[in-house]
Amino acid sequence: MQRASLDLTKLQRLDELGRRVLDGGSISRDDAMWLFNLESTADIFALMSWSNRIREQFKGNKIHLCSIVNAKAGACSENCSFCAQSSFHQTGSPRYGFVDPEPVMEAADEANRNSVTAVGLVAAWKGINEGPMLDEVCDRIRELKASGKTRPDASLGIIKDQKVADRLKEAGLECYGHNLESSKRFFPQHCTTHTYEDRVGTIGYLKKAGIKICSGGIIGMGETREDRCDLAFSLKEIGANVVPINILNPIKGTTFENVPPLPPMEILQTIACFRFILPRQEIMIAGGRTVNLRDMQSMVFTAGASALMVGNYLTTLNQSVEKDLQMLKDLGLDPDWEGHDFSDQEETGCGCDNGKCEPETDGATV
Ligand code: SF4
Repeated sequence: MQRASLDLTKLQRLDELGRRVLDGGSISRDDAMWLFNLESTADIFALMSWSNRIREQFKGNKIHLCSIVNAKAGACSENCSFCAQSSFHQTGSPRYGFVDPEPVMEAADEANRNSVTAVGLVAAWKGINEGPMLDEVCDRIRELKASGKTRPDASLGIIKDQKVADRLKEAGLECYGHNLESSKRFFPQHCTTHTYEDRVGTIGYLKKAGIKICSGGIIGMGETREDRCDLAFSLKEIGANVVPINILNPIKGTTFENVPPLPPMEILQTIACFRFILPRQEIMIAGGRTVNLRDMQSMVFTAGASALMVGNYLTTLNQSVEKDLQMLKDLGLDPDWEGHDFSDQEETGCGCDNGKCEPETDGATV
């Protein structure tokens, strides 16, 4: 049997990039694309040995856990091709109005029992404006905050008014989930009822209000590796604090129901590349991990993930929280991160230190 010869130049370049990030440096887009284009399983494992070191350097053994409550379900006006809650799709997913206090407090209790850092209120609608609905949202945030059981987060869609972001902050909101979803180039392939710029603009209002940003995307929608690379650099540029990586779970009745799944090694490679580009951010593995990674789920941490969405997703099931906690324990990882205030993250975005900069709306994609 002939053995493939070891490409030392490749390993040397990988080592050089890994050491640079460990030393606090950054990699260029060309370097990142080289990582995204590594093909062999051996090279991807070599990449992950570095992404694991980078995670350990900046995060130690801490893993940040989040959960979500579907605070308003279904009948969304938007046409996101992956989403079971879009009114453009017939998926049979539940529909109900804004959630009462009880289910939110139950989620807070469960989070508290399971060392879950934050509970996010997620609403299926285009966005939120001043008015009675914002009053109700602020009430739920205040109740969550007052309970002292978990950090109140929210994901309420597009914001077009600074006052809305300021009111959320006043109510006690600390972190807002608003994914860019994909590269600017690929965005119109999955949504045409709002724009990438609407999303970047929303993030600008939130940052001005002093709210932390949870923003990532979905992989496996048919995008190229270049699109994934551009998404990661855009997230760096907008200053995302938490970067959720969702893996498409094609739901029957959605436009993307027949999109073929990504191979698990390609998913792990993507996570590893994100860790190289975003060494200090929380890289959170969110929707689609159970169905796409199956027995390889625990490898997301070797690939560089430092956060996990636990409990059920908005319209699909996840493995139990108990099983996730056991997985972390077996890996020697610690989910107990009380008081996590993002102080372990460097200032990202434009590089100024006042957090007041407006992100550019004409192309966060580098
Ligand atoms: S992803 Fe959000 S905005 Fe898009 S259809 Fe689903 S709920 Fe609506």
